[in-house]
Amino acid sequence: MAQLYSAPKGTADLLGDSARAWDFLQDSARAVFTRYGYQSIYTPLFEHTEVFTRGIGEATDVVGKEMYTFEDRGGRSLTLRPENTAGVVRAAIQAHLTDNNAAAKLFYTGPMFRYERPQKGRQRQFYQIGAEGLGLNTAAADAEMIMMLWEYFTTLGLQRTSMRLLVNSMGDETCRPAYREQLAQFIRENDAALCKDCKRRADTNPLRAFDCKNEACVAVMDSAPLLADVLCDDCREHNDAVLQLLDAAGLKYQLDPRLVRGLDYYTRTVFEVQVDHGLGAQNALGGGGRYDGLFQDLGGKPTPCIGFAIGAERTVLALQAQGATVAADTGLLVYVAAATDLQRDAAFTLTMQLRSRGLTVLCDLQNRSLKSQFKQADRAQAHYVLIVGEEETTRGGVTLRNMETKEERFVTLGSVVKTLTSERQ
Ligand code: AMP
Repeated sequence: MAQLYSAPKGTADLLGDSARAWDFLQDSARAVFTRYGYQSIYTPLFEHTEVFTRGIGEATDVVGKEMYTFEDRGGRSLTLRPENTAGVVRAAIQAHLTDNNAAAKLFYTGPMFRYERPQKGRQRQFYQIGAEGLGLNTAAADAEMIMMLWEYFTTLGLQRTSMRLLVNSMGDETCRPAYREQLAQFIRENDAALCKDCKRRADTNPLRAFDCKNEACVAVMDSAPLLADVLCDDCREHNDAVLQLLDAAGLKYQLDPRLVRGLDYYTRTVFEVQVDHGLGAQNALGGGGRYDGLFQDLGGKPTPCIGFAIGAERTVLALQAQGATVAADTGLLVYVAAATDLQRDAAFTLTMQLRSRGLTVLCDLQNRSLKSQFKQADRAQAHYVLIVGEEETTRGGVTLRNMETKEERFVTLGSVVKTLTSERQ
């Protein structure tokens, strides 16, 4: 017997409910984001490694520890995308999408790859939904992005009260460098109490120490200096304007001066949506921010941008924890059953006719008995079964069975479609 294989550690097959959930998340993203003027973009699942090392930053956990990097047969160093902002920006530069101050609003859905320790809500291949507003520099662009993220989660069915929107400003090249030094100094002064990662961060990426989950580090970082206190005038003005727009829209947020996002490229506005229940430590459903320096990091012209990424697995877990239905409404489903072998062809023909009228219709393709066709219809959660029998055929119709009420009645072939669609309303 040949060896049986299972999916690699940290990956999962999406089938049944989880496939339906992913469809639901993607369909809802398209529906919401399209209304904000976003269009799809599909970039490769792998890029030249430098797109990520330069884009995300050498000192980040993602680049330092988590990338799936390999050499292809042509000797190129390639990396499976750990996130998609760098890839989208690379594509936008390549296609000149933002030349002459043009803006581009793009969204994507798809798998990302990070070599992390798998746990609930954390996988090695996971799925993200993201949006990138390229060439946009106003506070209104930031507010729109945050509102779109929030609307997406509420459209999926997450209760507003179960979510927390955190907002912060990470400053820019005017105010951040001095602050970074001040924070690095603070970390060095307190390094006896910090974990070895945070000690290292003083030199590489001090802001990331705010993200450490280690209790001792959290306690130290509680008294660390905050960037919010030393923002330059432009950053403060921008931040105030964003918050004003959120206030005007009635969107509740919490200012979190310790919110720093894991990737190096963020400037000014950053935000995250978290939930309290169902996710444990991995409580961030999604987040993002402004990244005005990334185009230049990747060789492009200075281009202000803002975006977010949502974790699909965590969003599904959060929806399930709230008892929400994590699937699109499939609409009316009809099953056409043949009473005996003699009606199989007629049942098949009727199935095709109903499909051509726009209905979703199943029929048996395995020569099953009537009883097992009913079981199949039940399992598929068909709303109606149309029974094609000898007697019905003589009378020019079918028996219509309502699977919920179990009522049955005769309908003529000419009125089947009308009956089905009107019953459903
Ligand atoms: P990031 O790209 O790190 O900002 O992550 C954006 C979102 O993607 C997070 O809020 C998570 O919901 C999700 N995410 C990040 N890493 C993973 C992972 N390893 N497994 C599952 N979801 C993830």
